[in-house]
Amino acid sequence: MHNYDKVHRGILKKFQCLKGRVLQGKKEIKGANSEERIPADELVPEQHILHDLIRGFYKPKGKNYLLSYQATESKENYGKQIKWMNDEELDFEVIEMRPPSGEKDNRKKSDIRAARYNLEHRIPIGILHKVSKGKNKILGLGIIEEERTDGVFIVKPYFTYSASNYNSTINEDFSTEYQTKITQRIGQDKFRKALLEKYSCKCQLCDIGQSELLVASHIKPWDIASDIERLDVNNGLLLCANHDKLFDRGLISFEGEQIVISASISNQSYADLNISLDLVIEMGPATKEYMKWHCENVFKN
Ligand SMILES: [Zn+2]
Repeated sequence: MHNYDKVHRGILKKFQCLKGRVLQGKKEIKGANSEERIPADELVPEQHILHDLIRGFYKPKGKNYLLSYQATESKENYGKQIKWMNDEELDFEVIEMRPPSGEKDNRKKSDIRAARYNLEHRIPIGILHKVSKGKNKILGLGIIEEERTDGVFIVKPYFTYSASNYNSTINEDFSTEYQTKITQRIGQDKFRKALLEKYSCKCQLCDIGQSELLVASHIKPWDIASDIERLDVNNGLLLCANHDKLFDRGLISFEGEQIVISASISNQSYADLNISLDLVIEMGPATKEYMKWHCENVFKN
């Protein structure tokens, strides 16, 4: 049993937690610049990088193992090297990991040596998938299962519940809180994206279309909604910051599709708040159900 350092374990956990996330640019992968790496966080006790984005293999300086691999499928590189388990391209079945082959690549030998070290000691690696330039998706953890005679390393998904010593060290201090946070963030991102698409990036009550000002608002509030309700687009409205606040505080709601305005708002301020009694929102039956709940429980008559 090897005594892997805390930083290494933390980074691997991070790969696991971030699975499914798409990272834009390099900041979340290798930090803003060489002086400013990714800062320490709940999982990794010091500043760090997930991958150096130079070539597929990433072996941290002074270590004898590979930390992560960036699978690129562009034609100039290796072409197709990922076999997917499903169409959403989240779970891979196999990755054919190709060592750097450029003639000038003088680190090739040490990279291959490192990959063999991972193979021999069953040390998982983090997997990035370069979807396009500057856009990387985290695919979780993989484990090198075999070195083929043509020099390709075969990587299979590494599940934390598989039985191995390494695994238990990953799990014992695995921060579920952190994982929950990440999962929530992914959920929120999806929810927002779906609403922006459904309502063509415009507030459903006014014409504001500035995306920074648009809020993916839950009709049945997020903190009391079930997991399914939290992600259900029917439980969402796309509102500008102003209208979201009014709705969120129960100062407006809808009876059927017709707006109702709290008596605590005087008629004189309707115009200032950009509301009027003739506002309607078209809703499907599922949304009407949620709205009924809002009207009965959140609306301040
Ligand atoms: Zn609005």
